[in-house]
Amino acid sequence: MSNYKINTKCVQSGYTPGNGQPRQIPIIQSTTFKYATSEDMGKLFDLEASGYFYTRLQNPTNDMVAAKICDMEGGTAAMLTSSGQAANFYAVFNIANCGDHVVASSTIYGGTYNLFHVTMRKMGIDFTFVSPDCSREELDAAFRPNTKAVFGETIANPALTVLDIEKFAAAAHAHGVPLIVDNTFATPVNCRPFEWGCDIVTHSTTKYMDGHGAGVGGCIVDSGRFDWMAYADRFPGLTTPDDSYHGITYAEKFGQGGAFITKCTAQLMRDFGSIQSPQNAFLLNLGLESLHVRMPRHCENGLAVAEFLKNHPKISFVTYPGLEGDKYYELARKYMPNGTCGVVSFGFQGGRTAAEAFMKHLKLAAIETHVADARTCCLHPASATHRQMNDQELAAAGITPDLVRLSCGIEDAGDLIADIAQALEQI
Ligand SMILES: *Cc1c(COP(=O)(O)O)cnc(C)c1O
Repeated sequence: MSNYKINTKCVQSGYTPGNGQPRQIPIIQSTTFKYATSEDMGKLFDLEASGYFYTRLQNPTNDMVAAKICDMEGGTAAMLTSSGQAANFYAVFNIANCGDHVVASSTIYGGTYNLFHVTMRKMGIDFTFVSPDCSREELDAAFRPNTKAVFGETIANPALTVLDIEKFAAAAHAHGVPLIVDNTFATPVNCRPFEWGCDIVTHSTTKYMDGHGAGVGGCIVDSGRFDWMAYADRFPGLTTPDDSYHGITYAEKFGQGGAFITKCTAQLMRDFGSIQSPQNAFLLNLGLESLHVRMPRHCENGLAVAEFLKNHPKISFVTYPGLEGDKYYELARKYMPNGTCGVVSFGFQGGRTAAEAFMKHLKLAAIETHVADARTCCLHPASATHRQMNDQELAAAGITPDLVRLSCGIEDAGDLIADIAQALEQI
């Protein structure tokens, strides 16, 4: 990890060209890599030498971008995935298998909730969902002997709850398991969960990191701080020989800093193949180069819009963790003193009908299944991303039928507010 500030890491980490080499990271658009002898290649397959042989496992462009995100988060190892969904699936499945159990915050992103609650249950992994506001006692009660991880989101999408990372990390560590935090909304510019005790960070890079709606992607970063060997019986995948990889014991061969990501690459990426294309990794890197410049503007615009909506007679509630008086304001101040994100949620006196009418009248903010983009966009979760949930599940996820999620872009705040004001006038 370099000692530079986050602003410098966004621009320069991950790639330092040598004499006469390209200034921008090269796109290695190649599925495969050439070797002189079969012995040379054999060493790579045995993980005896490091090098590239097939892009499904690793690609130099992807690795440069992963190294940048790793440095931004303050981790020891990282890998890119084809999407945020793949990142969260891999991060959990790397340590929790059939017969295991995971504790997760109930307010997580709808896609992640579905992945855990439906698809991963089919794989024999059980989940207990707890409120992010639960007491330490309630949190402790959720653990079982077969619990392998705790999962939450720094700022939940779209509920905008703020995770008390220290509380969740303390509980996870007391039960001998790592805390995995999806840091998509805060980004390492506004919060670095490792500094608060989190062990593994995931990202949907599709959001602020890309920032321009150009490429779907994900990332997993390891803090290198979780001692797998101290709980060897609980994590046999990391602490006993992998027969599918020539009897390697990851925690021994790659140490605490490298075991998690090496296993995730050698087993899960090999078998599931959710690799990011090098072309998309290049685009992601362009986004990262300006992330530290864009995030403050997203936050500024989010706060301005939240303050405008707060006192509007047609609005029933505003949720924005950066807004004074918000339920999560104090937690946000603690974990994200420089700002939270650009996403604001709010509801209407006129209920669901008013929410839908309002969205139709917006001109600058486009209706999209997207968030955290340079261009302002909005979504009605109850009829889109969270459509499959019943009212009870919606409530547990912190979503009401009239909730609109507005993702403030980096346009002029006055223009955004004027657009919202004219749409409100028409309902
Ligand atoms: C969008 C999102 C995901 C899923 O990421 P994709 O890149 O769309 O697969 C996961 N977590 C959070 C918090 C998200 O906002």
